[in-house]
Amino acid sequence: MPHIGLPELLVLMVTLLILMIPILLIISVTGRKVTVTCPRCGTETRRGGYSWWQILVAILFFPIGLLALAAGRQPTECTDCGFRWQA
Ligand SMILES: [Zn+2]
Repeated sequence: MPHIGLPELLVLMVTLLILMIPILLIISVTGRKVTVTCPRCGTETRRGGYSWWQILVAILFFPIGLLALAAGRQPTECTDCGFRWQA
């Protein structure tokens, strides 16, 4: 059994930390709750988010996978009148 010293442990921890950065970054960007005003009735509603596959691709293929987010958000649907538009 190989002996794991302090330097190896530090390298492992730093590597894990670096791997965590894109995940936290993508989740914070895609999970933001942005409110927009409905162009038909003026009610404030939550902006349409990204699909689960876009978030998955962005994390798995970081940073190239970020291009998946360029495919755009899902349309926003007004909670009051049901009007759908691309916000
Ligand atoms: Zn509306």
